[in-house]
Amino acid sequence: MSTYAVKEIYHTIQGEGHHTGKAAVFCRFSGCNLWSGREEDRYKAICQFCDTDFWGIDGLHGGKYKSSELAQTINELWPAGKANKFVVFTGGEPLLQLDKPLIDAVHELGFAIAIETNGTIEVPEDIDWVCVSPKANTELIVNAGDELKLVYPQKEAEPERFEHLDFDHFYLQPMDSPDIESNTTAVINYCKTHPKWKVSLQTHKIMGIL
Ligand code: SF4
Repeated sequence: MSTYAVKEIYHTIQGEGHHTGKAAVFCRFSGCNLWSGREEDRYKAICQFCDTDFWGIDGLHGGKYKSSELAQTINELWPAGKANKFVVFTGGEPLLQLDKPLIDAVHELGFAIAIETNGTIEVPEDIDWVCVSPKANTELIVNAGDELKLVYPQKEAEPERFEHLDFDHFYLQPMDSPDIESNTTAVINYCKTHPKWKVSLQTHKIMGIL
């Protein structure tokens, strides 16, 4: 039976992309295949701009879980008796760990499942919402899904490389860095002139929520 290493689990509002504003339980797995998560390794990370702490299992409700325990913990964080259950598996890279037993366990409790993946690992069956966020200098193998959300700008990961892929929604999201203002302006200008793309903002940061 699989054991899952989880950094944190929390009930919040999805801050970015298509489901912005929607209540969700976020389950953040530990670990990523594009960076160790340790600052001292950042210089050799494939993905250079990561703004997420996914190292270890020391966050809120972090720990090692079996599938049934993890599903139950997610369920306990949802408001009692309320429908529209929604869980977002993220990371790190969730597809290093998310598998059929956990997908089934969470579905049995009535949740719709979304993932936020870097697109370098095959997606298992029965995911309800697949959001791929491609990273420069990686091989994208997930070429279809619900939402492609590209952090912008990234050298070697221009939007033109992805717009032919089989996604229903295409989002550009300003890279959070000291250049956030000019990155936001660049996103606005790009979306105005390339209407296939929509703006995604990290509204959880604007609202000051987890
Ligand atoms: S793929 Fe995502 S989690 Fe992994 S290092 Fe890049 S931004 Fe961070």
